[in-house]
Amino acid sequence: MTLPLPRLGLGTWHMGENAAQRAAEVAALRAGIDLGMRLIDTAEMYAEGGAEEVVREAIRGRRDDVYIVTKFYPHHASRKELVAACERSLERLGVHGIDLYLLHWRGRVPLAETVEALQKLVQSGKVERWGVSNFDVDDMEELVTIAGGGEAFANQVLYNPARRGVEFDLLPWCAGHDVQVMAYSPLDEGALTGDRRLAAIGERLGATASQVALAWVLRQRGVCAIPKAGRIEHVRDNAKALELRLDDETLREIDRIFPPPSRKQRLEII
Ligand code: NAP
Repeated sequence: MTLPLPRLGLGTWHMGENAAQRAAEVAALRAGIDLGMRLIDTAEMYAEGGAEEVVREAIRGRRDDVYIVTKFYPHHASRKELVAACERSLERLGVHGIDLYLLHWRGRVPLAETVEALQKLVQSGKVERWGVSNFDVDDMEELVTIAGGGEAFANQVLYNPARRGVEFDLLPWCAGHDVQVMAYSPLDEGALTGDRRLAAIGERLGATASQVALAWVLRQRGVCAIPKAGRIEHVRDNAKALELRLDDETLREIDRIFPPPSRKQRLEII
């Protein structure tokens, strides 16, 4: 049994794109770590390395407090490219090792080659664990037939109250294979933060719409959420979701607003 991920983390997509925002982004990530959001999710793709550099600044002097997840491009997933991509991420992040290294989405490189390259990175100590992102059930099935593929620790996918397709088959599959699920865009890229129906539920519970959406994602074992917030007030708001428990009646109410899937849906990708 593998250890679970921190339940609530910090997304970084669009960070590092604008120099004028940098100090605020670093402050937001630092505030999040202080409030117990101890996982940071980033990627070499975000601002073409710029987001990893923001993370470097945010974790300076506190590397051991944070669980770092970064992702590599599918076109870097080959034996030849992956080591160099990993070295560049380590350099930008200013760390000796990545806690969890994910294939950002499936590309043309054969999975067997990527798994072998990832295993070498684990053996060299540059990566603690590896996983995938945007993999549907058929991709996961294929992955576990490959030698070493069963070592995949996590699958990062789109999941929030308004995007529940994964509940039909992917979440049960991951639970059954001890694969952690990382819910990306848990606020539906911000759309749920202003949802009146979630806000009404939140009002009854003394919470905000964002907290209700995040607590809903976190209601399940083996699922963590990585909301992105560039503003400190949003980080503070999100952190409180860790204290919110939704009772059965509230969950039924959310089911009426956002019905669960009744059949297979193709995995949605942002
Ligand atoms: P999200 O976390 O669902 O929403 C982010 C948006 O919500 C931002 O505009 C943010 O504003 C706003 N926000 C956050 N907290 C708020 C609050 N309490 N009140 C009001 N507004 C709030 O969307 P996301 O960035 O797409 O997803 C989160 C993370 O998942 C990404 O940053 C990235 O790390 C990861 N991701 C991964 C993939 C993948 O393919 N693996 C794809 C998409 C995302 P401010 O920034 O202004 O605070």
